[in-house]
Amino acid sequence: MRTLIFNISELVTLAPLVKENRFNRIQDEDLGIIKNAWLLIQDGKILAIGDSHLPELKNTICIDAQNGVVMPGLIDSHTHPVFAGSRSHEFSKRLKGKSYGEIAQEGGGIAYSVAQTREATVESLAQNATHHMMSMLRKGVTTLEAKSGYGLSVESELHQLRALKLASQMTPQRIVSTCLALHAIPKESQNERAYIHEMVTQLLPRITQEGLASYVDAFVEKDYFSAQEAKTWFLEAQKLGLATRIHADEFSDCEGAALAASLGAASADHLQFASDDGLRKMAAAGVVATLLPGTSLYTGIPFANGRNMADLGCAVAIASDFNPGSSPFENLRFLAAMAGVHSKLKPAEIIAGITLVASKALGLQSKVGALVPSYEADLGIYSSSSIAEWLADMGKTEPKLVYIAGKVAYRSSSFA
Ligand SMILES: [Zn+2]
Repeated sequence: MRTLIFNISELVTLAPLVKENRFNRIQDEDLGIIKNAWLLIQDGKILAIGDSHLPELKNTICIDAQNGVVMPGLIDSHTHPVFAGSRSHEFSKRLKGKSYGEIAQEGGGIAYSVAQTREATVESLAQNATHHMMSMLRKGVTTLEAKSGYGLSVESELHQLRALKLASQMTPQRIVSTCLALHAIPKESQNERAYIHEMVTQLLPRITQEGLASYVDAFVEKDYFSAQEAKTWFLEAQKLGLATRIHADEFSDCEGAALAASLGAASADHLQFASDDGLRKMAAAGVVATLLPGTSLYTGIPFANGRNMADLGCAVAIASDFNPGSSPFENLRFLAAMAGVHSKLKPAEIIAGITLVASKALGLQSKVGALVPSYEADLGIYSSSSIAEWLADMGKTEPKLVYIAGKVAYRSSSFA
């Protein structure tokens, strides 16, 4: 059985970027927009697209897009959805003038989430994560990366990753798992070196045995892990086939960007204080620079200079950094619009940054993130009549229908 989606006002394909296998220096024409379009799905994949001469309709389900926009399924390439407990009280503390570091010193921050998460069952963690993932789905997100990092011991990190695996079976979305054991140093650990040694020798082999993650991550930052310390972790993980992504240079320049380039990381994220030299190295190495405007909006830290990254030749993605403390936003479209306003990205860069470039940040660029023949049929049908309207809406309206691998994953109650 085939599915034809017709009467599409604007279909965003990103075909020119796919054809050139390019993810940077993105211009309007790179979006490959087709007006008055149709799209044909077969066996979960895109079979054909066009703008006239509808294909033969025998044995075909026909879906009228009602002159709305069709976009690739959105991709959120950086989230922390597996946690227990609420950190809402920290928001009031921040409004009274406390910094991220001061709240952490008072027992808040990551350590607070760790304490709550360690006490929770795998099932309750998975249920909580699923709740947030379904909220993302209602905003059009069909693929997301999700991290551990609120366990910070061998058993607790495994516990969190197992919860993530369970959550991925409870949601229709594609989930890419990352072990972020180097999110912070747990209070019971003697020092960074001893902690990293334990994670390398005891955690990494078990992750690969159980197939619990495809990436590892580390928070490369003052008072957390230095580039040199994190490098040990990343190199050992690479030997086991686990690829690299990095929280880099959020509060200070810790040479995280250069580290990401030297390791061939898939992505380096945050980057407010990354040096131009580090960013140039990332551009040359094909490391995606990921903007996380949610933390800037919610905690008042500076926005990353996305314009500079794009102008230096970096591929730039935008992600939610969804987490309970510093970015509680599940609406990727809203954050992408914020990256336009505050990080000075242009419309085409924003759209590519939450589709094909985000896909590149997850190593999925030949499978999802664009609407071209042979790609997975992951897409959203929106009531917006143009891409300009879709962008200006800042994620207010939900998609009418979301497809993942050619199947309806979400249907708005307003869509008959
Ligand atoms: Zn993060």
